[in-house]
Amino acid sequence: MIALSSAELLPLPPDALRRVSPSLKAELGSRGLHAIRSILLHKPSRYEDRSLTTPFVALKAGERAAFIAEVRKVRLGRPRRGGRTLLCNLVDASGSDIGAVWFHARPWHQRELEGGGRFFFVGDVRLGKTGGLVIFNPEYEEVEEPPAARAEGAQENAAGEAVHFGRRVPLYPGTRHARALRLLVKDLLDGVTEGLFDPLPEALRAAHRLLPLGTALRELHFPSAQATAEQIERCDTEAHRRLAFDEFLLLSIELAQRRQGLREGRGFRIAVDGAARAVAELPFELTAAQRRAVTEILADLARPHPMQRLLEGDVGSGKTAVAAVALRLAVESGYQAALMAPTELLAEQHARSLVALLGPAGIAVHLITQSTGGATSAEAKALAGGRPCVAVGTHALVQGALTFGSLALAIVDEQHRFGVNDRLKLLSKGSRPHVLLMSATPIPRTLALAVHGDLDLSVLDELPPGRSPISTQLLVGSAQAQAVVALREEIAKGRQAYVVYPLVEESEKLSLLDATRGCERLRAALPNARVALVHGQMPHEERTAQMEAFRAGQVDLLVATTVVEVGVDVPNATLMIVANAERFGLSQLHQLRGRVGRGVYPSRCLLLGKSPLSMAARKRLKAMERLSDGFQIADLDLELRGAGELLGTRQSGLPAFSFADPVRQVALLAAARQVAFALVERDPELCAPASRDLVRGLQALFGERQSLGSVG
Ligand code: ADP
Ligand code: MG
Repeated sequence: MIALSSAELLPLPPDALRRVSPSLKAELGSRGLHAIRSILLHKPSRYEDRSLTTPFVALKAGERAAFIAEVRKVRLGRPRRGGRTLLCNLVDASGSDIGAVWFHARPWHQRELEGGGRFFFVGDVRLGKTGGLVIFNPEYEEVEEPPAARAEGAQENAAGEAVHFGRRVPLYPGTRHARALRLLVKDLLDGVTEGLFDPLPEALRAAHRLLPLGTALRELHFPSAQATAEQIERCDTEAHRRLAFDEFLLLSIELAQRRQGLREGRGFRIAVDGAARAVAELPFELTAAQRRAVTEILADLARPHPMQRLLEGDVGSGKTAVAAVALRLAVESGYQAALMAPTELLAEQHARSLVALLGPAGIAVHLITQSTGGATSAEAKALAGGRPCVAVGTHALVQGALTFGSLALAIVDEQHRFGVNDRLKLLSKGSRPHVLLMSATPIPRTLALAVHGDLDLSVLDELPPGRSPISTQLLVGSAQAQAVVALREEIAKGRQAYVVYPLVEESEKLSLLDATRGCERLRAALPNARVALVHGQMPHEERTAQMEAFRAGQVDLLVATTVVEVGVDVPNATLMIVANAERFGLSQLHQLRGRVGRGVYPSRCLLLGKSPLSMAARKRLKAMERLSDGFQIADLDLELRGAGELLGTRQSGLPAFSFADPVRQVALLAAARQVAFALVERDPELCAPASRDLVRGLQALFGERQSLGSVG
């Protein structure tokens, strides 16, 4: 039900809800529009320009039209289910006439129209049975005569202006009560905007050229001539901009506060004097980008406050080596450190790399996954007792009773693949550990501001030397025969190859069927090749054995569902073939492609597109031929698919904005962020009256946000 809580700061006009019918009330309730503010912030999906009226002579059948006409001869047709048919004659200023029909007329329709008078109408004009023009189920509203001509006490809208006509009117998505809702919004606007509290102080509005809240709300629903037709069409007026700013500001204040809180809490101080040796003992020279990231991380670890850092780096940029240095220093300082990965394959590979990198320094590395049965009782005891070591695992690390006696550093690899809860659970295994999130899906910087605004960012924007470039080619239809030729060539040269089938989300079985069939066809086409199939449903030991055989060079061709997406590092593999490539996002394709080109041999990636390929899909896949930089690809992916898709809808961590668009409105986000961070810097607890009013006002409008998808 519509109710006003005192927190809303919006005075309710005494009779604002007088015209709200029970059925509109029910509809509003079912759409979650329970409060005045949510109704006023209910964004029109479109606007219809009803400011221009068409004379009858210019009407055409098949078009939507708006006009002013006088009502003549109202009569009722046969009763039907849901009402009766109402017919009348409409006459315009020139004296020509057309018909009007309502199929499910209500008694009040008849009453309103029978009184005669001039009305605005809008609706679809078609050819009637008798050959004349008829307007079907038109919306209408009585024309207000000029004040002088108006009879004393005549019915009128509170502000004395037309609501549904003679202007651009808002259309709301999927309502059965378009007119009533519009009227309600108008009444609310007339009633509340006067005394409305604006959370943004005038100076702030002036500095960022933002409309006052009341004006913004009015303009949102009933855009005035200030907005250009194009802005209105795109739902991108000054009103939208003002409300987007508010959303960005509220989010940014929360991020700024969280960041402040995290940075001030007490954490582990990790000794970093051994850093030079740890770096020197790596089997390779770090890239400049890796060195920079290590320096940034070490500076954080040495402070007695918990690190909150995101390490972004393209696939193959060497995040593991950076992580290894941090892990080693934590353990050498006498603490425990954990690395959590999203899949068993990846956890196993990390364990293997870390044993190789850290074993010689005498550091114990424990692998803890579901299929290793979690931790052994000896391991569990050692971990609980706080013995310094590295624990690598899947979310098995955070499940069950496993406890850490002295967890000082928690690293999450491919962090976007985890839900917020898993990440929080890992943190709760220690007492304010340092946190390093790693991601190979480069989140465009703009989006990172919105999603990870409370984190510090390190970026690996450089690949280790000696990588050979990967040539990418899209093959559609009969061209796909080239894929088999390529396989034959690479295998003959002693190289190895992957063929990957998409995981069909609704049906793992279906994609398995694709992969199985594909595997059989390939075996037939390549009789001399050693072909193995891996997929998510096969027993763990079997899968590991197959992967191991591939790694050891005993398998030439690995056919897989997307299990190879993360965590396979086989330098001898030079050919990646992706079947039904159109079903993958660009960032995913980029990840897959990153499985090859890891050694000294030139590598190829063939994208097989299902024929016929839509124009859009072709354009997307063609971009992969051109682009090799993960950030550029992420930007394009973002542009084409939107933030939710790119980051994984459930885990995107993006609040559900109504007005703000962190992709399109980068500058606005940056501005709001600056305001928010300055505010929190000045007044960390937001206890000054001005800060309190600002935040309470914003929260009253947009509600308190829930989980933002970051750690904290
Ligand atoms: P990602 O960032 O995708 O997790 P990895 O950490 O798996 O990348 O590194 C990819 C490969 O590059 C590994 O085989 C790793 O040993 C190697 N590598 C990492 N850093 C360097 C470097 N500085 N020089 C040479 N090889 C490196
Ligand atoms: Mg990695």
